[in-house]
Amino acid sequence: MDQATIDRLAVAPVAPGKLLIEGHWLEGAGETPVLSPIDGRQLTTIAAADAADVARACASARAAFEDGRWSRMAPAARKAVMHRLADLIERNAAELAVLGVRDNGTEISMALKAEPGSTAATFRYYAEAIDKIYGEIAPTPSIVLALIHREPVGVVGAIVPWNFPLMIGAWKIAPALATGNSVVLKPAETASLSLLRLAALALEAGVPPGVFNVVTGPGRVTGEALALSPDVDVLVFTGSGATGRRLLQYSAQSNLKRCYLELGGKSPNVVFADAPDLSTAAKAAATAIFRNAGQVCVAGSRLLVEASVHDRFVDELATATRKMAVGNPLKLETQVGAVNSLTQLEGNLGFVTDATREGGEIVTGGERVLQETGGYYMDPTIVTGVRPEHRLYREEVFGPVLAVTPFTDEAEALRLANSSDFGLAAGVWTANLSRAHRMIRGIRSGVVHVNTYGGADVTVPLAGTKQSGNGADKSLHALEKYTDLKTAWIQL
Ligand code: NAD
Repeated sequence: MDQATIDRLAVAPVAPGKLLIEGHWLEGAGETPVLSPIDGRQLTTIAAADAADVARACASARAAFEDGRWSRMAPAARKAVMHRLADLIERNAAELAVLGVRDNGTEISMALKAEPGSTAATFRYYAEAIDKIYGEIAPTPSIVLALIHREPVGVVGAIVPWNFPLMIGAWKIAPALATGNSVVLKPAETASLSLLRLAALALEAGVPPGVFNVVTGPGRVTGEALALSPDVDVLVFTGSGATGRRLLQYSAQSNLKRCYLELGGKSPNVVFADAPDLSTAAKAAATAIFRNAGQVCVAGSRLLVEASVHDRFVDELATATRKMAVGNPLKLETQVGAVNSLTQLEGNLGFVTDATREGGEIVTGGERVLQETGGYYMDPTIVTGVRPEHRLYREEVFGPVLAVTPFTDEAEALRLANSSDFGLAAGVWTANLSRAHRMIRGIRSGVVHVNTYGGADVTVPLAGTKQSGNGADKSLHALEKYTDLKTAWIQL
């Protein structure tokens, strides 16, 4: 896509967002302003759904599920609708990407691939799965026939964050719909716009009214009502650990709905002196943490470097980092876009202050930049000398701040990598195949990248361990979250 197209879409007026319930766009009980992180100005408003609005959406989803308008539609027909939706996403990719960037701040070059691009691919992947997954026949004695059915769970509540709203939304909506469920989606209040547009495209593609409802608004009101709803059978969530804990409590207080939580990370990126190419590793270490201004769940936020190459590596890393273009996320050349909100930016800066107080040394960055734009921008920041007891080592920043720690041998590297409450992602750079496999086995995380960082596609699961969550997004394994097993035991 060229810059002129982006510039044209970037000034298109944005209508106030409404709720989607039973195929109708409705006002909510209130309104929430949407500020653009690009310039700090109000872009539009979204509806703020209260508990009664959420109850209506859940009842609509329940009724749609029970009457079978989607859940009992022939798999091939559901598949056709989902492919139509993927076509529409591709046709409207530029508009979806720009709209999303205007409220969430991701640099457009990344948003184009990660948002409409991967969303369309995700809908196609699960559309194709629909008519290729079979039930099972158990190996019983011949006087019995035992069939194992996979049934949709019913109503899926999906609560998603602001960093990649379309992509993460699709990781939940697509497998949920593919398996015949109804969905009530609650986007993040600072990144609802592209998901509202996706919902309109879903209606256009032929997803029947009520099968996919969207409620927007504050987490503590709208999200809480969804998580407490007795009409929701399974809750799928991506977001912070603090919210994840609350959701488990809401489940316990309501109907014991199953909760699948994709939470934060503090992922180690481990560089051994025998990496195939240290310069490549240094450039990759910079993009692993700084793209999307560090607002990536799998970001390589803890860099562990073998002491013998530490200084040289940090020099190369700092050089690569200083070359990264920070600024307006709607410019194609931008590599580090806006921080999503002022609160988030202030939190990021607080981590830097604490890190220096605890003995860390800032190599580059550490400041808010481009304040004159009114937007929320931060210089990519590298802090060396970070120890496992430091806050910057232990807590997720979810911003452009990298903690660097040296190690002396493989055993120490593994110990440092695992000394975290999180277990989402990791990277290992080495030319030694045996060492790579030992590290893959030893590191407790959902994904271990070797001699690269990031880029794992929809064919593989993203599954957190430890306090990074449970269950998996992506791949056929994700379907397990959206189905129940049912046995038929038949005496012959
Ligand atoms: P958040 O937990 O603040 O918000 C996530 C969603 O939960 C939003 O829609 C919000 O409105 C809602 N919410 C907030 N409070 C709620 C409540 N009490 N009840 C119900 N819903 C509530 O997280 P965030 O700041 O939007 O996202 C950043 C976090 O998401 C980071 O920790 C990041 O690592 C994580 N994340 C994880 C993955 C993954 O796949 N594991 C992917 C992306 C982001």
